[in-house]
Amino acid sequence: MMELDTIAAISTPLGEGAIAIVRLSGDEALTIANKMYRGKDLTTVDSHTIHYGRIVEPDTEEMIEEVMVSVMREPKTFTREDVVEINCHGGLASVNRLLELALYHGARLAEPGEFTKRAFLNGRIDLSQAEAVMDLIRAKTDKAMHVAVRQLDGKLSKLITRLRQQLIETVAHVEVNIDYPEYDDVEEMTLNLLKERIALVSDEIIKLLAMAKQGKILREGISTAIIGRPNVGKSSLMNALVQENKAIVTDIPGTTRDIIEEYVNVRGVPLKLVDTAGIRETEDLVEKIGVERSRQVLNEADLILLVLNNNDVLTDEDRQLLEIVRDMEVIVLINKTDLEATLDHDEVKRLIDGKPVVTTSLIEEAGIDQLEQAIADTFFTGGIESSDLSYVSNARHIQLLNQAKQSLSEADMAIDSEMPLDLIQIDVTRAWELLGEIIGDTVQDSLIDQLFSQFCLGK
Ligand code: GDP
Ligand code: ZN
Repeated sequence: MMELDTIAAISTPLGEGAIAIVRLSGDEALTIANKMYRGKDLTTVDSHTIHYGRIVEPDTEEMIEEVMVSVMREPKTFTREDVVEINCHGGLASVNRLLELALYHGARLAEPGEFTKRAFLNGRIDLSQAEAVMDLIRAKTDKAMHVAVRQLDGKLSKLITRLRQQLIETVAHVEVNIDYPEYDDVEEMTLNLLKERIALVSDEIIKLLAMAKQGKILREGISTAIIGRPNVGKSSLMNALVQENKAIVTDIPGTTRDIIEEYVNVRGVPLKLVDTAGIRETEDLVEKIGVERSRQVLNEADLILLVLNNNDVLTDEDRQLLEIVRDMEVIVLINKTDLEATLDHDEVKRLIDGKPVVTTSLIEEAGIDQLEQAIADTFFTGGIESSDLSYVSNARHIQLLNQAKQSLSEADMAIDSEMPLDLIQIDVTRAWELLGEIIGDTVQDSLIDQLFSQFCLGK
């Protein structure tokens, strides 16, 4: 068994709510709580009981708080360890004092998500659920939060389990055909049927991967580059978006001095805005680093906001930029519409080829709504935002899904080239294993167990 120390944390939002809870988990949870507490002997009370008492200062016995203490013994707890929750109604100061006392008596301050990590380590929840809790802690917007909550519900686990079930049935059929060719009960699995089943699972994985892009975006923010010639209004755009929308994080450590980053929430879409040209007008991205290098910078962005000046003619530089970004996720802003239109809007639309073009006057705060709508449309096309499929948001999951998809396509190719069944089976089994890694379940034995629970061949 794993040796884990006893951890403690305040498990209610700070400064809110009438009741605050200090939670302890681990072997020493009961003894530590007992040292802080005057009332019944907590180490001898029944599991899942609540007790009234007082928390006192260690030396003076001076009372800090009247509390209700819940005692939950392992294994029927969230962490599968002994858990004590001390409920108090006091303010911030007394909650903090309670936590300090728990640490004083031998607990360690829990890291963010550590209770959940224990729930996983002790087998209480699966990996995807544990990861969902981590995401929940880091979620930057409400939508990102909902994705994490859904995953926590175990929806991803359920879907993955269902896909694996379909694969295992396929494998089982193949197995039976190989081992018991004379067994009549078993449906003859034609290669076509096999192909069909593989395609069904494959399609679902592809759908999940498509959703994953949105999931990643929700969690990490859309990396958005603001580009354009000097003086077109890039900094003004950045300021407008930051002012209109609550900045999520303003001070990102590791931000270079040349590049300003801001996190804003545009209609539930978290944007990580990068004003590439930045503060100094002379150091415009394209001017300074050239077209090739800027192409590379742009390639790393999820979204490009290209700003043009309505009160100017289209320059070669503008044309070059339009050419570079036309195959990327881009929204073009024609800014300064309060000034005379000398820019040929139709030419811009022709050059950018179907990508959204929005007109703004940032100085008059006009067109910002349309821009925000265009951003939301770009990332939530086809109603993905409300789809309950958008719950893959984890890099590890995405990688495993990609690998599983690859294995299935290899199986499919093996069928096409009339490879022997057992070779096809290896690819399908591999996909099954990869999906299992998402939920932390790939014990080879269980493949065997499941194979036989599928088909009671009764020998
Ligand atoms: P950047 O060099 O692309 O970052 O451009 P800035 O945001 O620094 O703006 C350059 C100048 O254009 C500033 O004097 C702004 O006040 C001005 N400007 C920005 N947007 C507009 C607009 O919509 N209309 C007008 N008339 N001026 C604007
Ligand atoms: Zn600027």
